[in-house]
Amino acid sequence: MGLLGDWGKPMFRLDLNAVRDRQGQPVTFGFRGELPELDRFEGAGPGVGPVDVTVTVTYLEGLFWLEGTVEGRFETECARCLEPVRSPFSIMLVEKYTLGPQDDAVGTPVDGDFIDLTQRIVESVLLALPMKPLCNPDCLGLCAGCGQVLNKAACDCRPDGVDPRLAELGKLLKPE
Ligand SMILES: [Zn+2]
Ligand SMILES: [Zn+2]
Repeated sequence: MGLLGDWGKPMFRLDLNAVRDRQGQPVTFGFRGELPELDRFEGAGPGVGPVDVTVTVTYLEGLFWLEGTVEGRFETECARCLEPVRSPFSIMLVEKYTLGPQDDAVGTPVDGDFIDLTQRIVESVLLALPMKPLCNPDCLGLCAGCGQVLNKAACDCRPDGVDPRLAELGKLLKPE
């Protein structure tokens, strides 16, 4: 039982029979699918669209060497203006599995004829979650007074209670 518990039907599953018969020769697997909802674990976390997983597995003397990528995108909201943000990600996966008993120094033991990567993929995606996603680095956010999305239009609020006409004057005197 790992960090995230039981996943039900395994989706990202490698059939080791195809690999074991070809000692020393890399075998490539490709998957595309939806991950289980991540907000189960992170409160109101971002959604994740379907992910593309490509993994190359090489079997050599009792060890399966995995190398691959997980690609997809986060669908979340800007930390400043709350507009939707989609940010692509590409994560490297490097893993080692063993036919032998549990030994962290050697690798994760293989259970039967398959490696189910679902949980490993979800964990790596969780680790890659953006801490503070922004629609763009210069996002102006929301007006604290009226809630206006300042990227779209300015509002008539008076910062610090300054009359807007005086604020305009202030800008002229202090060009950016
Ligand atoms: Zn924004
Ligand atoms: Zn305002």
